[in-house]
Amino acid sequence: MTTASSYLRFWKCLMVMPIGTALLTRPLLAGGPPSNLKLTVQVYNSASVAPGTLIAAEDEGARIFREMGIAVRWLNCPLTISEAAANPICIAPVPPSRIAVRITSEMPANLAESSLGVAFTETGIYVTIYYPRVEEYAKEGIANHSQILGHAIAHEMGHMLLGPVPHSRFGIMRGAWTAEDLRNIAMGAFLFKPYQSVLIRQAAMRRMQGEKASAPALPLVGQY
Ligand SMILES: [Zn+2]
Repeated sequence: MTTASSYLRFWKCLMVMPIGTALLTRPLLAGGPPSNLKLTVQVYNSASVAPGTLIAAEDEGARIFREMGIAVRWLNCPLTISEAAANPICIAPVPPSRIAVRITSEMPANLAESSLGVAFTETGIYVTIYYPRVEEYAKEGIANHSQILGHAIAHEMGHMLLGPVPHSRFGIMRGAWTAEDLRNIAMGAFLFKPYQSVLIRQAAMRRMQGEKASAPALPLVGQY
């Protein structure tokens, strides 16, 4: 099984891969309960997801967090040093207050059939999304690529913010998504449960205060 440490080495290698996209920061959308809670997420699109699909996915993810009173700012980072040089925020070490999401087309051979990604909760920072799994779910024709990708990112961010807790029976933190879940995704009704929202808001607050929000019990390969 691929270990978290090998993933992290690959993550660092991403910074010098010759695949580029322009840094794009996008404004927060209005709506949701009033709150000062904010999360910044750096996104590395190694799977070359179409820009329109990625932006729509980020809008989905932002909506899900906005329902909890948390505003998400997405930083779409380039993947080359030369491009990132103009945007030093993307090549500086990711601070523990942020989450970094890598979308990749490469999947571990032993990845569980239901897994769309992994959150390396021991780092408190790094999330990987396996885009071929997004495409597999989209082939069912219930939810589109953006909706599934946005919910997959939100799910893994949930792992990062909730710590090493089990999947839940209901809502976006379910471990395997059924056709009914995909219908809820398409309708925008696949959200965090209220008790999860409380914990996530607390984690977001800690991050805003500059505290590392990772939990002490650390799994080897993160939370799927
Ligand atoms: Zn999971």
